[in-house]
Amino acid sequence: MGPIPPGFESEEGMLLIGGRGAAALADEAGETPLFVYDAGMIRRRVADLREVMPGGVGLHYAMKANPFPPLLALMAGLVDGFDVASAGELARALEAGVTGDRISFAGPGKRDREIEAALLAGATLNLESVGEAERALAIADRLAIPPRLAVRVNPDFELKGSGMRMGGGAKPFGVDADRAAAVARHLIAAGAEWRGWHIFAGSQALDSEAIIEMQAATVALAARLSDAVGETPPLVNLGGGFGVPYFPGDAPIALEAIGDALGEALDRRPASLGSSDFALELGRYLVAEAGVYLTRVVDVKTSQGERFAVVDGGLHHQLAASGNFGTVVRRNYPLALANRFGMPATDQPVTVVGCLCTPLDRLGDAVALPSIVPGDLVAVFLAGAYGASASPAAFLGHAPATEILVGED
Ligand SMILES: *Cc1c(COP(=O)(O)O)cnc(C)c1O
Repeated sequence: MGPIPPGFESEEGMLLIGGRGAAALADEAGETPLFVYDAGMIRRRVADLREVMPGGVGLHYAMKANPFPPLLALMAGLVDGFDVASAGELARALEAGVTGDRISFAGPGKRDREIEAALLAGATLNLESVGEAERALAIADRLAIPPRLAVRVNPDFELKGSGMRMGGGAKPFGVDADRAAAVARHLIAAGAEWRGWHIFAGSQALDSEAIIEMQAATVALAARLSDAVGETPPLVNLGGGFGVPYFPGDAPIALEAIGDALGEALDRRPASLGSSDFALELGRYLVAEAGVYLTRVVDVKTSQGERFAVVDGGLHHQLAASGNFGTVVRRNYPLALANRFGMPATDQPVTVVGCLCTPLDRLGDAVALPSIVPGDLVAVFLAGAYGASASPAAFLGHAPATEILVGED
């Protein structure tokens, strides 16, 4: 198993989340499984970032990581901007109290009515293609709204060691770097409010040096493109890609070193970016470690000498922990017995499986846990990002998981 995120403690053997006992949280929810998100951990993470990132670098939340409405409302008060990727996310961001001028909308395949909703809200569209730029200009013209448009650039480099590459080579995302300046010039000539560049090179990187290199390359690319446009971009969205440790051997990124290096890169930036603002857009780094998926043991059985604990949750809620969300080799997310937290493991490993009738539904392979019986609560960590909203909840007809945010006053 990978490391349990720091900050989780126990009281009389019961895992505490946001200062509350896991069993009490399950009782309060009335049903297992449930996702619990700790607001305090999210606040601390944002505060840590603010402390080390250079002044003038805004923080954006990429809300596809976790769109739970109370969590969005928390985020609305913590970060500078929201990055959305559909009209549905746009509506949720607005409902959470984020004003349109703090929202940017990226993502391929925006439909006309989604572009229209973004323009009406005063959000910035991060344009993914030449065709999308034309449609946005035409829709803005019809609505008589001056559109706020940025160009998403498919960078000519990638984020090394990234779990999910979204730049470098042929990609459905963004306008190729060698055409991006021409698109921006066209937007400006058409009378749009050009908001700048959106350059996102990848996701889930744990190699701090690679992040530092990527950020320097991003600043350099933004400068080169801006020179070609002949105007200073109001905003350069530098992307994100900050990863969190999930698996054995994973270690947290060196946030301070990354912040220092970004500060130096920005201090040295060319005049073409002199008055630009900058932003980082982060999803999982803000929320993944603050979430725990709690699921109850229904059955314990032995098959051909192997022990299984069958829980009432599974991949329909927490697909990523089952290893079926973009991983090549299945590895265990950190998990624990919430009601015997920190107690010694037995010498007989147990395989934790979900309640779905498919061999894909595995939450932990041969895990060392304290002795386990029906009624126990299993905690699967790193459930704060790409959990409930990134799982096939309708598969096999079980009820959706409850979600709660704790630690809010
Ligand atoms: C998914 C995505 C993010 C968030 O990625 P994380 O790995 O969760 O930080 C940020 N920006 C864009 C454009 C994305 O598609």
